[in-house]
Amino acid sequence: MNLEGQTALITGSGRGIGKTIALKLAESGADIVLADMSPEVTEVRTEVETLGRKCLNFKADVTDIGTIEAMVETIIEELGSIHILVNNAGITQDNLFMRMKPEQWSKVIDVNLNGVFNVSKAVIRPMVKQRSGKIINISSVVGFSGNPGQVNYSSTKSALVGFTKSLAREVGARGVTVNAVAPGFIDTAMTQALNESQQEVILQQIPLGRMGDATDIANAVAFLASEEASYITGTILHVNGGMY
Ligand code: NAD
Repeated sequence: MNLEGQTALITGSGRGIGKTIALKLAESGADIVLADMSPEVTEVRTEVETLGRKCLNFKADVTDIGTIEAMVETIIEELGSIHILVNNAGITQDNLFMRMKPEQWSKVIDVNLNGVFNVSKAVIRPMVKQRSGKIINISSVVGFSGNPGQVNYSSTKSALVGFTKSLAREVGARGVTVNAVAPGFIDTAMTQALNESQQEVILQQIPLGRMGDATDIANAVAFLASEEASYITGTILHVNGGMY
């Protein structure tokens, strides 16, 4: 998959799946824009540049629409356009529903769903104007299966399915595709926070017998971002070792 000449913006790319996606797209030839709240994003920039790609990095909170709009303006000024947006930034604040605080509900909705609205809104006009673009949202298996303790998180991840399918219908005629990847359980800081017995229970549900690697997700994103996927839109690609 050759992404030469493309510019990709990846949110939440300071670590974990987002960082791996950024490096995979860079290896495939894309110039990269990293956006994350965490300062770790600066180290990722060095890794992208080592691969010989242009790279910008922003300390940006996806919930802050003003910052996001200013970031997109700067990217277009400096790199010309944005061809690929990967809405990857996401958080969990798990709790059983009976104990879930309104703030835990709101915070997760704000980052995982409003954040996707904010960044997609900022890039959609330029993409429509240039008559090309690929938006890839990172959903989750639990948006389909549900998961105890994650009413807030799984609600956002299934909401992204409606978002993906509806926006795909709106902008298809303008050359913009919108798809999602729904990862299963992937070995990152998010899942390392689970205790050993929780991890054991999860492993028993995975026919392929292992947690996924961030590379498994990055490969799926690179495919959806590529020319080879140009006739795919409104689709959810499940990458979960067969667990759902
Ligand atoms: P992670 O916690 O390792 O990384 C998330 C990154 O997002 C961090 O660098 C963090 O700083 C950044 N971030 C958080 N809030 C942000 C905000 N408001 N603005 C900008 N950046 C912000 O998580 P991960 O495991 O790499 O997950 C990445 C995505 O994949 C998330 O959307 C997550 O829901 C999804 N996902 C993960 C798994 C899994 O098993 N790890 C499974 C399914 C889906």
